[in-house]
Amino acid sequence: THFGFETVSESEKAKKVYKVFENVAQKYDVMNDAMSLGIHRMWKDMLLHVMHPQPGVRLLDVAGGTGDIAFRFLEYVRSQQERQKRRVARSMQTPSWQDISNNYSTEEEDGPQESTAVVCDINKEMLKVGKQKADSMGISAGLSWVVGDAEELPFDDDQFDIYTIAFGIRNVTHIDQALQEAQRVLKPGGRFMCLEFSKVTNPVLARLYDTYSFQMIPVLGEVIAGDWKSYQYLVESIRKFPDQEEFKGMIEDAGFYCVRYYNLTGGVVALHSGFKL
Ligand code: SAM
Repeated sequence: THFGFETVSESEKAKKVYKVFENVAQKYDVMNDAMSLGIHRMWKDMLLHVMHPQPGVRLLDVAGGTGDIAFRFLEYVRSQQERQKRRVARSMQTPSWQDISNNYSTEEEDGPQESTAVVCDINKEMLKVGKQKADSMGISAGLSWVVGDAEELPFDDDQFDIYTIAFGIRNVTHIDQALQEAQRVLKPGGRFMCLEFSKVTNPVLARLYDTYSFQMIPVLGEVIAGDWKSYQYLVESIRKFPDQEEFKGMIEDAGFYCVRYYNLTGGVVALHSGFKL
C-alpha cells in the first residue's frame, strides 16, 4: 500500500493513520476550517438536512473525531422537538383537526423521545478533544464517546437507526469490512450515510482543486500545525479513494439497498446513503 512518500504494509498504514490524527488532534478543528475555507460546515449541515432525523433516533457516528456530526445531530433533533412543542402550544389555543390528531403523539403520551449519539473513533486524542468541546459547550447530555475500530465495532447487532461516517472511511484499511460492520450494527430499516472526498466532475474545477490541494494543504499543515507530512497524507488518501460510482457499488456489495449519492461542491465531496432492509 502506498502511504505518503513510502511504501508500507496494511498494518503499518493503520499505525500511521493513528499517528497522523494523534498529531493533529489539538489543531484539527482549526485546520478543518482553514483547509476547506469553512466549507466543511456546509457539507456537514447538508448531511443533517438529507438525514432529517426525528426525535428518538439513535445515531452512531463512526470515525467521529472531535464530534462535529454528533453535535449537529443533537442540535437538529432538539430544534425539531422545540418546533413540535411550539406547534402543540399553539394548537392548545386554537386547535385545528390536524393539530388535534397530532396531539395524540406528543411526548406526554408516548414518553420522552430522547435522541442519543455515540461518537466512535479509533483515536483517543481526537475523542478527548471532542469531549472537552462538548463539556465546554454544555451539550454532553445524550452523547457518549467510545474508542473503537470501524472494522470491528464494539457494539451488538441491530443497535442504531443511523450510522454516519464523515471524512473517515478513506482512512480505514479494509473499507469492505467497515461497510459490513455498518450493516451489522444498524437496525433493520436503518440508514447508512457517508461524507467523503470524491471525484470533481467539472474539469476546470478539478484542475483548480488539484493545484489547491497538492500545493496549499501541506503548506497550511506546516504553518498552522507544524506538520507537513500528516497533511500530505490527507491529500494522498483523498486521491486514492474510489470515485462516486465505485464507492456506490461497494456499499451495494455490503448489502445496502436504495443506495444513492449527492455530489456536493461539484463532486469535491460526495454524500452516499443506503438502507439496511
Ligand atoms: N468525522 C470527523 C469530522 O468529520 O470532522 C473526523 C474526521 S477525521 C478526517 C478522520 C477520523 O477517522 C480521525 O478521527 C481518525 O482517528 C478516524 N479513524 C481512522 N481510522 C479509523 C478506524 N479504523 N476506525 C475508526 N476511526 C478511524
